[in-house]
Amino acid sequence: NKQVILRDYVSGFPKESDMHVTTTTTTKLKVPQASNAVLLKNLYLSCDPSQRTRMTNYQSSPYFLSFTPGSPIRGHGVAKVLDSGHPNFKKGDLVRGITGWEENSLITPPATETLTKIEPTDVPLSYYIGILRMPGMTAYAGFYEVCSPKKGDYVFISAASGAVGQLVGQFAKLMGCYVVGSAGSKEKDDLLKNKLGLDDAFNYKEEPDLNAALKRYFPLGIDVYFQNVGGKMLDAVLLNMRIGGRIAVCGMISQYNCLDKPEGVHNLLHLIAKRIHIEGFLVHDYNHLYPKFLDWVLPQIKEGKIVYVEDIAEGLESAPAALVGLFTGRNVGKQVVVARE
Ligand code: NDP
Repeated sequence: NKQVILRDYVSGFPKESDMHVTTTTTTKLKVPQASNAVLLKNLYLSCDPSQRTRMTNYQSSPYFLSFTPGSPIRGHGVAKVLDSGHPNFKKGDLVRGITGWEENSLITPPATETLTKIEPTDVPLSYYIGILRMPGMTAYAGFYEVCSPKKGDYVFISAASGAVGQLVGQFAKLMGCYVVGSAGSKEKDDLLKNKLGLDDAFNYKEEPDLNAALKRYFPLGIDVYFQNVGGKMLDAVLLNMRIGGRIAVCGMISQYNCLDKPEGVHNLLHLIAKRIHIEGFLVHDYNHLYPKFLDWVLPQIKEGKIVYVEDIAEGLESAPAALVGLFTGRNVGKQVVVARE
């Protein structure tokens, strides 16, 4: 069973060598009798920024449990059931849920509770770790529930071409907002403008003064900021928010490698004078909206009204580089690892 193992807790920027790919030669995995366990063949594995936070040794985690060094990386995946002692799953079923970065995973209760049978299957299966599950729901709940958007709002999205950001931009355009995204390369900016239909986009890495850049794109200010990045970008955004603006604090990827020394945010004072509503949220709190979301989004995908850009890495060997690449912006769109041979 080939596995991607976390060597030890990570501090600072993650490296490929923080993980290693190995093949265990122990006896074949099988479902113990009367065990309610499920044996999976992993097909698609998700690279998510939160996996970096789980590589830190938290004694009491803010919201995630740390990984265990010496064990496989864990995360969202799509898999085929090879064998099952669980009444909800049978051999051949396709499932999504939390699995290991390995060829085959034996999932035992209570972890089997994260598994859900996949239906329908007439869209790419990898979408069940992207637009059709966690990143999709994050964009949906974060934009519609947390940002309270209105037609005509000026909307700004950071990390706008990623798994979550690319959807927020499209949702905001469907609502009739003016939408600008920031991303870390010209290729990504072109994608945002030409394929995803945003009004404008800029490369934050080429802007020495983020405040001046935002003033250029939003001369009248920002109503809604969908924040994926944190740090200096949040500081600059606060200077450019309009009165009554809303900020959905989805993520702070610029801070995940320096959790011990976070960058200060100096402009929080603007929350008061501008009566800005700023709200952190976790996608897990919105699970009740999932059926409504699927009913809404599946037809739009099939009709080509919403597109989803994926960056596919082949094989478990490519998984460490794919995960580390989230922190250099190597991924264009949702980073997926194909686990199967
Ligand atoms: P992405 O697919 O957007 O990948 C991460 C991207 O972040 C990179 O491609 C890179 O793009 C950008 N980035 C990396 N480091 C920095 C940095 N230091 N400064 C600015 N940008 C950086 O990831 P996701 O869409 O999966 O996640 C986006 C955010 O949403 C993350 O912060 C994540 O933690 C959060 N999240 C929150 C959830 C919740 O429940 N609240 C659920 C899911 C995700 P670029 O080239 O633009 O730099």
